[in-house]
Order: sequence, then C-alpha cells, then structure tokens
Amino acid sequence: MIRTRFAPSPTGYLHVGGARTALFSFLYARKHGGQFVLRIEDTDVERSTKESEKSLMEDLKWLGFDWDEGPDKGGEYGPYRQSERIKIYQEYAQKLVDEGKAYYVYAEAEELEKLREELISKSQAPHYTREMLQSLLSPEEVEERKNAGKKPAIYFAMDRKERILKDLVKGDVRFGEDSMGDFALLRSNGLPTYNFAVVIDDALMKITHVIRGDDHLSNTVKQIALYEALGFDIPQFAHLSTILGPDRSRLSKRHGSTSVEEYRKRGYLPQAMVNYLALLGWSHPQLKELIDFDELIREFDLDRVSKNPAVYDEKKLTWMNGQYIRKLSNEEFYEYAKSFVVPTLFNEEEYVTNKKWIMLALESVKTEVETLSELPEKLSVYFEEPAVNLKLKKALEKSGVIMAFKSLRDAYESLNEWKIESILDVTRKVLKDSKVKGKEFYHPLREILTGKDSGPDLVNLIFLLGRENVVSRLRKFLEG
Ligand code: GLU
Repeated sequence: MIRTRFAPSPTGYLHVGGARTALFSFLYARKHGGQFVLRIEDTDVERSTKESEKSLMEDLKWLGFDWDEGPDKGGEYGPYRQSERIKIYQEYAQKLVDEGKAYYVYAEAEELEKLREELISKSQAPHYTREMLQSLLSPEEVEERKNAGKKPAIYFAMDRKERILKDLVKGDVRFGEDSMGDFALLRSNGLPTYNFAVVIDDALMKITHVIRGDDHLSNTVKQIALYEALGFDIPQFAHLSTILGPDRSRLSKRHGSTSVEEYRKRGYLPQAMVNYLALLGWSHPQLKELIDFDELIREFDLDRVSKNPAVYDEKKLTWMNGQYIRKLSNEEFYEYAKSFVVPTLFNEEEYVTNKKWIMLALESVKTEVETLSELPEKLSVYFEEPAVNLKLKKALEKSGVIMAFKSLRDAYESLNEWKIESILDVTRKVLKDSKVKGKEFYHPLREILTGKDSGPDLVNLIFLLGRENVVSRLRKFLEG
C-alpha cells in the first residue's frame, strides 16, 4: 500500500510551493489507490501557532486535498501532531543511546558554536564527531552540570560512509563520506529536531514515499543514516525542484502573491490553482494544459516530474482561472461568486431572493472575467447609471441617429412583455425603420445604457437591466 504524507510546519501560511508538494503527494497516493496523511510538524514551539495550523488545513481543504489520516481525523498511526508524540521520540532517542548509536552532550549552545568556529578557522568542515563533542567538557564539568540538574542534548553518532540516494526525481544523488557530521536528535529541553522526528514519524506512520522540496536534499542523507541505525525500512524519496519567479530567482513575496489564501481572496478557483500547480514540474503525457482533478489523478506519476526548476507564471494561472470560470455551471458560479459580491452589491438576503436574476447577470459576464474579484466591476453596469456622454449626444444629434433612440425609448415603454425575444424584435424593428446602420446604432446604445464600449451581450443586458432602468437611462440621455 502506497502511503504519502504532507508534513507542514504551522509557522505561516500555505505557500504555493507547499501546496505543490501537497498536491504531488496527494496525487501520487490517489493515483496508486494509496493513502495520504497530513502530519503537523509543530515541534518548533516558538514559531508554531494554532492559527497557522488552522489556516493550512483550510487551504488544503479548499484545494480539495482530502487526507485519509490527520490531526482532525485520527487514524491508525496517530497522533498526527508532533507535539503530541514527544514521548515516542524520547523513547527512540534513548534506545539509540542504549545501543551506543547516540550519546549525551552537556555542552551549551555557545560552546558548540565556539567549536564550529574553530573548525572553520582551521579550514575544516564544521562537522562534529563524538570525540569533539565529548572533549568539550571534562568529566568533572559534566558531573557538575548533571548535579545542577542540567539535561543533556542527545546527538546521533553518524555512521560515516558514502551513500547514494536513488531519488525518484533527481536520479542518483551521491553523498560523500564527509558530507555530514553528528547531529542532535533531542535538544536539552527534550524536544526532537526535525531530522529525528521526521524519520520516526515517517517510519512509524508507514510512509512509503516521501515527496518534498529539494531544499531538504541535504537532510535526506542524515535521515537515511537514522533509518539504518534504527533498523527501519527506508522509504522512497522524490525531491521536487525549486519554484522560481519570472526573473529566475527563488519564488518569493517579491514576485507577488505566494500564499494560497491570497489567491483565494483574489478570486482564483481551486480547480485552476490545482491544475496550474500540477504543471509546476509535471507535464501531461500528451502535454495537455487544461486537466481537471480526475484526469490529474489518472495521469499523474513521478516519472514525468522534471528535475529542472519550474518557473512560476501568474499570467498563465490567471488565464487558466478564466478558463475554469467558463467551465462552472451557473449554480457553481453563483456559489463561488458570493463572497465577492456580498455585501458590496447585494446583502445576504438579496443574494438568496434574487438568485434567478443574479445567476443570469453572472452568466452575462462569465466570459469577461479571469478572476472572481473582477465581478463587482463587471456587474456594475447593472447598478450604476452612467453619466450622459455629451460628446456622443452631440454627434448623434448631428447625424440624426438620435431619432432612432427616441423611437426606441417609446417602443420599450409600450412593449407588452419584457422578454428577450420581444426586446430583440422591437429593437430590430426600430433599427430597420430608422434606416440607420447597425454599427451606428448598437454601439452608441451600449454606451448610452452603460457608459462602456463593451460588456455583456446587448439584448441580454437590456433584458436584465429591466424596463424601468433602460427607459430611464435612455430618457436621461435624450432629455438630460
Ligand atoms: N516540516 C517540514 C517542512 O515544512 C517537512 C519536510 C518534509 O517533508 O520532510 O519543511
């Protein structure tokens, strides 16, 4: 059974890079009929917050990555919050100490830092060995600290040898014998380090595939050494390439929005985000670009994940979002649009009671928006009476076309039923009788009614504006 996990640290928002990692882990599990686990890595007590955990989970849910096991759901291998697993880490650290594979270090941070600086000043790599760390203090000093009740950190005695990681994305990655030194498993406060907790958890949670950003590559060799020391099966690793901004530097806030929440607020659809994120490093076998969730699950595999960095292109995401907006059913569009037009254009109650009209109005601007946040502006044609365009009025008077609009006003006023078909018929009839060319009529008509030179289909717009508004806007223009 394939088991993947997403293991965010709740120290901030869900970054698009994190969302991409979560997506690939999710897709890989789903594609292979496996399970996807959410684990919260909150052992950094100072930086972890409950709000961040909550918002990460909300964003993941919004994107549609439903996990099979997690802090909110439980599961066979819980708890799924590292802060609730401290005892487990302590037990395993003790086991390694008992087996002679890890050892106590009573030295303080400053003493370790001094050692580091010394090594660097001698042009040596700052890699600790047991001898180095244990000779920092004399046996008497250790005794003194013990007696003073000071707790030691626990360090892993790294088995130094060359290791080759067969990464599912990067291929063979070689780590030389000297690529790392001993490192802490538990801090003196009893809390685990990332490299230790992640190994214990991935092993005990039976994770088969660890999919994560390649910024963790150098950690992986430490983790493999730990798997070996603990006698655990080593999972497969897939390290995803960095995401770059358009200027080819690592994607950061400087390049614009980088948080999923921000995109949600800016009117992006989860479907579009997911599709776009999937293409950050992965490609469809037929190089298709618009790929819905089900097809992603069917087609995704790690063998089509690129080693090269992906370049983030918000313009493409925005284009894609427009495509997904067009694909929404009117009912879905109505739901997604709500938070963008309530309470600015409608109050809660109106949004429900005017549902039929709102759905039609939304449909009328569906092809005009790329993000939902453009809706208030696009829908404003229905709510804002435009100022009279005096220049246009003069021109129409001069050419005599103004007469056609007077007839149109009269025709609309006396129209029996305000229906699309009858509006269309009567508008055509007025145009025909006036002998004005279509172009010289429709374009100014839109301008008179909306103050804009483009927008929803004109007859539809007239219908949705309603007789009262249409007649009053025409009248204002003609008489104002
Ligand atoms: N908590 C780690 C992070 O957010 C997880 C890394 C991993 O997937 O192993 O970077």
